[in-house]
Amino acid sequence: MHASQSLYQIGQLMCEATREILWHSAGDQLRSRASGAALRCRVGSGQATYHRYDSRRKLHLINYGLRMIAAKQQATSAEGWLSTREIQGRGYFGGELSTLNLLAHTCCHEFAHLVQYSAGHRTYGSVHNRHFYDILDRLHGSGTAEETRQFLLRESKRGGIQIPDTAFELPDRTKPSRQWHVGEPVSFGEGARRREGEIIRVNRKTCTVQGTGMARGSRYRVPLSMLRKIG
Ligand SMILES: [Zn+2]
Repeated sequence: MHASQSLYQIGQLMCEATREILWHSAGDQLRSRASGAALRCRVGSGQATYHRYDSRRKLHLINYGLRMIAAKQQATSAEGWLSTREIQGRGYFGGELSTLNLLAHTCCHEFAHLVQYSAGHRTYGSVHNRHFYDILDRLHGSGTAEETRQFLLRESKRGGIQIPDTAFELPDRTKPSRQWHVGEPVSFGEGARRREGEIIRVNRKTCTVQGTGMARGSRYRVPLSMLRKIG
């Protein structure tokens, strides 16, 4: 109970950050263009996190899902999210993953959808398009994303809420999932190109394999991902 309550408080801070920083910084421009549209932010109980526009009520709605906030508390559960890939792939916040950076970026991501929608650049089947990333890049480049991050950091400390800003240690994908040893019989390649051999050296990303059988007399440098154990 305590845990989900503090997640809810984090969600409410994200709502505040969206209104106070993001909406405020872009608000004048948006309001004149969207003729008086308002913004409502809320915390939902599920995972779903989205921006939606109600044209009848002229109301932007941004929903932050509790289970999304929960998932971004640890490296393992944060791994599959688009915000994780965006921070790493586009170098936002120096490419550093932490709960604080992920949640601040999530505010920016959803707000970028709001801006994208207002500018008429959101079309069915093309949501995360070039226009969207132009907007998101601007939010980060202009310092607005950093302001959003600072707001979350400051207000969470003030409210006694934990939003960790320590960098995640992600499982290192470049490490082989399995350790290879000199002398092990292996195969590599498929079908007619399949070869067999014996590992004579283990390198960082490859193994040096001395061919055996039909491959006798040849030497190969084989990427770790291509190696198969035989025997
Ligand atoms: Zn999105």
